[in-house]
Amino acid sequence: MNLLWIIPIILILWIGAIPIFIYSEKAEYNDGICKHCGGKLRHADNDSQGGMLWVCDDCGTHLWTSWIKGNEGGTDNV
Ligand SMILES: [Zn+2]
Repeated sequence: MNLLWIIPIILILWIGAIPIFIYSEKAEYNDGICKHCGGKLRHADNDSQGGMLWVCDDCGTHLWTSWIKGNEGGTDNV
């Protein structure tokens, strides 16, 4: 049985899911404003895959983003 047809379907689903990932990260990142206390999220760290760690100094919330690069480093949001 030939299952090669499934590969493009997975690719299409994967590509179609990327905007959903970006959208949910955008909602979490909230333009750099902490959703819990309204403080400013600070860029604290990067991982080896290019993800960015954001920390709120006011309440200690942190979150990782891989698509959103924030406003630091000269590049704008996705
Ligand atoms: Zn906070």
